[in-house]
Amino acid sequence: MNTPPLAPGAADGVVDVDVVVIGAGFAGLYAVHRAVQRGHRTLGVEAGAGVGGTWYWNRYPGARCDVESIDYSYSFDPDLEQEWTWSERYATQPEILSYLEHAADRYDLRRHYRFGERVVAAEFDDVASRWTVRTDAGTVARCQWLFCATGSLSAPNRPDIPGLDDFAGDVVMTAAWPEEGYDVTDKRVGVIGTGSSGIQSIPVLARDAARLTVFQRTPNYSVPAFNRPLTEEEQKEARRTYRERRALSFAGGAGTPHQPYPRPIWEVDEEERRQAFEARWREGGVLFAKTFVDQTIDERINDLAREFVEEKVRAIVRDPQVADDLLPDDHPIGTKRICTDSDYFETFNRDNVELVNLRRDPIQTITGWGVKTEDSSYELDVLVLATGFDAMTGAMTRMDIQGPRGGTMEQAWASGPITFLGVAVPGFPNLFTITGPGSPSVLANMVLAAEQQVDWLLDLVDHCRAEGHATVEARADAARAWTDHVDEVANGTLFVRADSWYRGANIDGKARVFMPYIGGFHTYIARCEESKDLGYAGFVMGS
Ligand code: FAD
Ligand code: NAP
Repeated sequence: MNTPPLAPGAADGVVDVDVVVIGAGFAGLYAVHRAVQRGHRTLGVEAGAGVGGTWYWNRYPGARCDVESIDYSYSFDPDLEQEWTWSERYATQPEILSYLEHAADRYDLRRHYRFGERVVAAEFDDVASRWTVRTDAGTVARCQWLFCATGSLSAPNRPDIPGLDDFAGDVVMTAAWPEEGYDVTDKRVGVIGTGSSGIQSIPVLARDAARLTVFQRTPNYSVPAFNRPLTEEEQKEARRTYRERRALSFAGGAGTPHQPYPRPIWEVDEEERRQAFEARWREGGVLFAKTFVDQTIDERINDLAREFVEEKVRAIVRDPQVADDLLPDDHPIGTKRICTDSDYFETFNRDNVELVNLRRDPIQTITGWGVKTEDSSYELDVLVLATGFDAMTGAMTRMDIQGPRGGTMEQAWASGPITFLGVAVPGFPNLFTITGPGSPSVLANMVLAAEQQVDWLLDLVDHCRAEGHATVEARADAARAWTDHVDEVANGTLFVRADSWYRGANIDGKARVFMPYIGGFHTYIARCEESKDLGYAGFVMGS
């Protein structure tokens, strides 16, 4: 039974607490831990049956992080850093999940949670200054402060492909992979989607499947992870230098200690430029997007980076037509998240793997036996949907969140999310979003980003309490100005040239607005501190 002991006042069936935290991923667990530590009666609610968030749901073969694990981990407790051992540069999903389970046990967090319950609605009572939160299991909770740690990539996108429901085989989603696992051995497998999830899973699925057909609508840039076990020496070194590493991460643009090449590209000759790209390529993955300063701002630099990667891919893939099909031509490199793979391009040299270019031969319909494209038919036993997420806003707008002056979050964000500092939304007092739109979020190391926001928000709550304020709300003008600033900074980069999920472009009908703050993690932290130093400028408090 998972009734939280710190959720008193349930006489009328209503759980009465100070803080409700929705979500038990990196952000939610940290929020619950810190809220309890600060003496708030706290209830956590999580739709999944356990902790982990992203790492609970995305159990597909090949799933691992693309930020090195020694960085992609909690920084708040040096003891935790010292006692945990990451076995590889980029840990697998099971290892990250066991890390989060360890954290949940170490800080005794599970007892505050109700698992397996999805929050379906929340409404704010202006008179009592409290949120009433309702779950699909019938729990009703009242709280003063509502922390939405609901995830930026947690609302899976099931594509609207004609006939999908008629498929007689199994349909599995990477974003909701069966907990008990799913064995593709000797099966004819089709994968729809070639983003990070598809690109990580395809090589692993190909090893076991009888046949693997990859249905690709848009190719993505991918750089090999060069993943490997960490040596004992490296683990020791990481433990020894953790404090400096974290300091660099918090002072960096993307929440990791890595810096771009120390010299501007135009000051180095061709040989040095090549070596710099080669060194970054060998470091692996997303870091390649930032080899040189301004690589995602100046198209000429971007073109050089792109050409380098294209050459690498063409050297791996044996069939030149397949190589052509696997190379993007619709966006500057790095303006969609570069995927981090292990043997992705090599997989297309296997005899049991086929690439279907949906731009040339679109899916007509899915039938009981498989996929029918305009020119061909593919008989399948399993269809894997690696089709992404309603990113950044989906988890919030899928709940019926009602503000006190009428209107839902979905309505408030219909033309794109509007926030102040990515943490608060005008019209929704005492509600906070963690790593949501308007914050560095998905463009930073999300673990550190969550820590920073949770600490800052709990300071805000303590400030309100100390000053006798029952409510705090983002001012409409401050939120407009911040959201315009987020847009303006993005417009100064090449990111706005990509039809990415950063811009809502993967979901039909969604507003095309660049959602994360691209001005840098360190700059963002400074903006938050500035507001705090000015007595939380940008917010209005009420008694
Ligand atoms: P999540 O981990 O998404 O947790 C949110 C939780 O809220 C979920 O468990 C969800 O069930 C729950 N929830 C949502 N709505 C409700 C509701 N209405 N009621 C109850 N519960 C609800 N980021 C990086 O920085 N580095 C990486 O290497 C990296 N790798 C990734 C790999 C994958 C496969 C994916 C999908 C994302 C990856 N990300 C990565 C982004 C990742 O989402 C974040 O790093 C981080 O795990 C987010 O933590 P979170 O707690 O904010 O959200
Ligand atoms: P994604 O990047 O949005 O990719 C979804 C894929 O599905 C795209 O190729 C898309 O094609 C395709 N698709 C969607 N609907 C389709 C349809 N109707 N028909 C055909 N194809 C369709 O999603 P994701 O791969 O899950 O990754 C999302 C983000 O999660 C990543 O960018 C990353 O931030 C994070 N992530 C990280 C890792 C990691 O390496 N650690 C792993 C997984 C995820 P179009 O582009 O044509 O729409």
